[in-house]
Amino acid sequence: MDKVFEKVWINCLEIIKDIVEWQHFKTWFEPIKPVALKEKILTIQVPSQFFYEYIEEHYVSLLAKTLKRELGKDARLEYRIMVDSGNRNNKPQTIDVPGQGYKSYSNNEMDFPLVINNPVKNPFVIPGLKKMQINPQLNQAYTFEAYVEGDCNRVARRAGKTVAEKPGTTSFNPLVIYGGVGLGKTHLAQAIGNEVKRLHSNKVVLYVSSEKFINQFIDHGRNGAINDFIHFYQLIDVLIIDDVQFFTRAEKSQDAFFSIFNHLHQSGKQLILTSDKPPKDLEGVQERLLSRFRWGLSADIQMPDYDTKIEILEKKMKNDGLEMPPEVVKYIAYNINSSVRELEGALISLLAQSSLNKREIDLELAKKVLRNFVKSSSKEITIDAIQKMVCEYFDVPYDKLLQKTRKREIVQARQITMFLAKAFTKNSLKTIGEHFGGRDHTTVIHSCQTVKDLMDTDNLFKESVLELQQKVHLAAM
Ligand code: ADP
Ligand code: MG
Repeated sequence: MDKVFEKVWINCLEIIKDIVEWQHFKTWFEPIKPVALKEKILTIQVPSQFFYEYIEEHYVSLLAKTLKRELGKDARLEYRIMVDSGNRNNKPQTIDVPGQGYKSYSNNEMDFPLVINNPVKNPFVIPGLKKMQINPQLNQAYTFEAYVEGDCNRVARRAGKTVAEKPGTTSFNPLVIYGGVGLGKTHLAQAIGNEVKRLHSNKVVLYVSSEKFINQFIDHGRNGAINDFIHFYQLIDVLIIDDVQFFTRAEKSQDAFFSIFNHLHQSGKQLILTSDKPPKDLEGVQERLLSRFRWGLSADIQMPDYDTKIEILEKKMKNDGLEMPPEVVKYIAYNINSSVRELEGALISLLAQSSLNKREIDLELAKKVLRNFVKSSSKEITIDAIQKMVCEYFDVPYDKLLQKTRKREIVQARQITMFLAKAFTKNSLKTIGEHFGGRDHTTVIHSCQTVKDLMDTDNLFKESVLELQQKVHLAAM
């Protein structure tokens, strides 16, 4: 059963997800856990001090607004910060601090209670952040045991094992793992981190996506704290940077990474990098960095073969305590060839369908689900296509849809288009707004709400919307 605070937080995330770019959302919001709601104070747990500061500095206004929407104007936010005690047997320690619009938060919404007019200096800033307090940011589920070995990943997996046993002292430094989307790079890189922690609990491990690294870098640049940033990274014994292809174009961050890389490498620390292409194809990454990447071992990961796919599926099922007939497992393995992530996706869809329809999993259901599954991931309808369909349907000129015309039919057509774009595409509210002559996300939210309200009260309107939904749905298949 969902607890109230979880509901509240889920509702907040729904809104935030649409406003914040996807990568930022993943980095800064997904790791947050709601833990309590008392009176109008929502407490959220964040993984580290740094995290807390980052959120307070960058997202306090957004959080304030969404929370206010959910809980009314007395809403307040508190944080629970996890402090890594360095001892894996202890439960992580936490400290609670109030949200306070930390540092430079200023805009004209000073009425929000999160912002204390006279900000108290946060008493929990840890001076000179001690080594052991660095949270490795690892997902405990990503282990070697859970990572099936096959021809597709044997070299990478074994090199990873070796590196985890003897970090920094083998010739696999850096270890570069590369391969397509959803083939298991992040899992393997994190498994190395987890294994290092298991075997050498005193080693400081840090997993970071290059996107987050770049964010942090930019952030420290603004505060004139680049040296702090570099020093922080120089404390790490095993540094894992995921998806280095995002370094393309981030010139300055590459410079910082270059000095961190050199320092760590010279001090016998381990570097593990992942990339969606082989290092030689990383355009936009400085040659001096690429040449560093070549110092160690680059190992690729491929799509698993049939037997390995079966083994992966069986492992996932065992972990989750599930059973299904062998012919179904074979059917999935045979038909999914894009990535391991899709393989998992198919399994999950199948389970969902079976429990929704209270139906045993059999080959027939698998065929049905996989048909939809492959279809839904094969084609996505665009905002432009939806705009065209609505214009045709209501016989409204396309350019009118984008202009600021206040004529009722046009306003309604525009609102319906936004509503459909929200429902049928993965675009953010911001992007949708931009497709309508640069309107902002609040307009889109408003439009979607209006359409929903009108559908409740106006039958004719409702019919049009349903008919259009049907058309868009068919076009998206
Ligand atoms: P990437 O980082 O390459 O995009 P991920 O590491 O996120 O891919 O993997 C996608 C999903 O597939 C994850 O849930 C991961 O656990 C799973 N996965 C990938 N390879 C394997 C494997 N060899 N054994 C078990 N699970 C795997
Ligand atoms: Mg990944």
